[in-house]
Amino acid sequence: MKLKVLGCSNSWTTRWTSCYMVNDDILMDCGCDAYKAYIQTGKPLTDIKLFLITHFHADHLYGLNVFLTTVHRLHKQIDYKPTIVGPKGIQAMCERVFATSNLIEFDFTGLVNFVEIEDGSSLEYNGIKITAHKLDHGDVIDFGYILSQNGKSIGYTGDTTLVNALYGFIEKCDICMMNISRMLTNLKHLGVDAFKMLLEKYPNKKLLATHCDEDVYNLPLLQDKRVEEGMIIEI
Ligand SMILES: [Zn+2]
Ligand SMILES: [Zn+2]
Repeated sequence: MKLKVLGCSNSWTTRWTSCYMVNDDILMDCGCDAYKAYIQTGKPLTDIKLFLITHFHADHLYGLNVFLTTVHRLHKQIDYKPTIVGPKGIQAMCERVFATSNLIEFDFTGLVNFVEIEDGSSLEYNGIKITAHKLDHGDVIDFGYILSQNGKSIGYTGDTTLVNALYGFIEKCDICMMNISRMLTNLKHLGVDAFKMLLEKYPNKKLLATHCDEDVYNLPLLQDKRVEEGMIIEI
């Protein structure tokens, strides 16, 4: 399994927002500028068959309409029906987001499959087992995903604060990408304080910091532990 980081930031930095490509056909999160990040790969948009959405914030979801609109602008008649997986309400949320796009004249909610997940839901896709785990992003539901293949697992939290379920999540992963957004943990995000604690608690796990504010991103502590655009993680 190969994960390529296309974007790993929140909305408040100059870097691109959350978008992680797994193998050549899955996008985990599709932040507001994910389309621009994706086209740097030179790959056809239609290669992406599965979108895994962690939660309904712009830096994780609002690239979907641009991505899919562009597919259908480029290819008027096309047999392309990707699947979008996300928390309960993903279809209704996408319909609202898609409606904000004035670039197309048709309703493309019929051109995608939606799968609503619950805590513990899993699905198989091209030999990868994908399991959703409910974490805690304050008033917004967030699911972290663990992708497993050949006995190895990589996890991505989406946005969460420090919550009991996070420990179980990390323990299921060989590599875990966590949103170390701020210096200090708050009700919605993990901070560097939590990251230091987790590094000590799990010395045999590869823990990586993603979704960082600029001050966190540039910390010397994180230089070999941060997720960067263009990084490839193989497991
Ligand atoms: Zn975010
Ligand atoms: Zn968020």
